[in-house]
Amino acid sequence: MSELSQLILDRIRDVNDYPKPGVVFKDITPLLADAQGFAAVIDELAGLYPGIDKIVGIEARGFILAAPAAYRAGAGFVPVRKKGKLPSATLETSYELEYGSAVIEVHQDAFSPGDRVLIVDDVLATGGTAEATVELVKRAGAEVVGLAVLMELAFLKGRERLAGVDLHALVIV
Ligand code: 5GP
Repeated sequence: MSELSQLILDRIRDVNDYPKPGVVFKDITPLLADAQGFAAVIDELAGLYPGIDKIVGIEARGFILAAPAAYRAGAGFVPVRKKGKLPSATLETSYELEYGSAVIEVHQDAFSPGDRVLIVDDVLATGGTAEATVELVKRAGAEVVGLAVLMELAFLKGRERLAGVDLHALVIV
């Protein structure tokens, strides 16, 4: 395992029974609070795809990573948000959750045609959120060059829903 992967693993905390009994939640706040760890992660994300135009962050923890990575990469930042949070005209898509469904949106004019885009989130679990975001970004006229997450929960098989996407997980557990 790389030094960065080990550093991330050491600073992500398991919280049992959150947000509901039986779930082990990966809490990234200790990593964010560590100056060296946070900087190393942002530098890594920013360097993955030289020459990208925009980095998309998925609400809400994706914002924390995508915005500084975009700054570092010299790229623009674009938020993908839960329905009702973006003020101007949007494109939206819905996806299935364990119970019920969710809707996410992006501004219709967030991208220039053919923008090369990296999507960033903290954790890949079932892959539903990432899959929906990829679809949304493509519909908005951009090219998804990659999807980067801090941690992939391999046992939930999210990767299988992302065929054709260059998925980059800094840690796989
Ligand atoms: P998925 O759609 O892949 O099932 O879930 C991924 C989304 O839910 C991501 O936006 C991620 O932030 C959040 N998520 C799911 N499980 C966890 C977890 O254990 N820890 C964290 N930090 N986020 C999670």
